[in-house]
Amino acid sequence: MTLVSNNRSLMPSRRRGKVRARLVERDGNQCFYCGQSFSEHVKPTLDHYVPHSLWRGWRQENLVLACWQCNLAKDDVLPWPLVWLLLAHHQEAPALAA
Ligand SMILES: [Zn+2]
Repeated sequence: MTLVSNNRSLMPSRRRGKVRARLVERDGNQCFYCGQSFSEHVKPTLDHYVPHSLWRGWRQENLVLACWQCNLAKDDVLPWPLVWLLLAHHQEAPALAA
């Protein structure tokens, strides 16, 4: 889980607002994972697509907006689409000679 309220990686609130605006422009005003639209009742959180433990920092390329439920469910693990991509790439690589 990589919520903005996490003390180990707090982003300044002014910057957070700008990043959120850019992410809404890029991905729409909805949860990246489940597609639920954000509203007064469904607040967005900033989530590191590749977990913060593996890719430090706040690069926009690695940030998505997620609802609380999806952010909590994803936890601090790699998302499955990325795992599948890595596995597919690995299977295409030539085998090492013995
Ligand atoms: Zn969601």
